[in-house]
Amino acid sequence: MPMLHSCSYTGCEILTLSPYCFEHERVVRSEVEAERTHTAARDEPTARELAAAVQPAT
Ligand SMILES: [Zn+2]
Repeated sequence: MPMLHSCSYTGCEILTLSPYCFEHERVVRSEVEAERTHTAARDEPTARELAAAVQPAT
């Protein structure tokens, strides 16, 4: 039996069966899609990868 719980989005307490409420699921999904599109469109290291590369290799 599915259990209702509050949305995982910070500060959101809407009860849902999904990780996020309907509204925030759309928000999170669009963010993921945007990042995926951005990464696929530009074959360059991400800011996180650049930051990692900058750190000294000790
Ligand atoms: Zn929410």
